[in-house]
Amino acid sequence: MHELSLLENVKEILQNHAKHENFTQVKKITLEIGQLSCVEPEALRFAFEVVMKGSLATDAELVFSEQQGLGLCQSCKKQTPLVHLYDPCQFCNHPFVTVTQGHEMKIKDLIVI
Ligand SMILES: [Zn+2]
Repeated sequence: MHELSLLENVKEILQNHAKHENFTQVKKITLEIGQLSCVEPEALRFAFEVVMKGSLATDAELVFSEQQGLGLCQSCKKQTPLVHLYDPCQFCNHPFVTVTQGHEMKIKDLIVI
């Protein structure tokens, strides 16, 4: 499951943060999920429990925030909204659009104790 490895990364980031900033527990974590990242919120919620078990984020409240997909059209050079990866440009219908936003998952906000 793709979500597990993403969360292993998140856990590592949290542990590094905890070391540098001296906190011991994560109270609430907001994860930003890109529309194009292929991350399933439900799968992520399940994986979160598994991965964070026994860590400093065991009892953390998990919140999702969705980030819209955006791409740069290689033909008309406009920013075009992308609902799916490989969508054509909405302005000129050109098929080559470089994804600029919404293809990843990251930590958006963190509340710690
Ligand atoms: Zn275009």
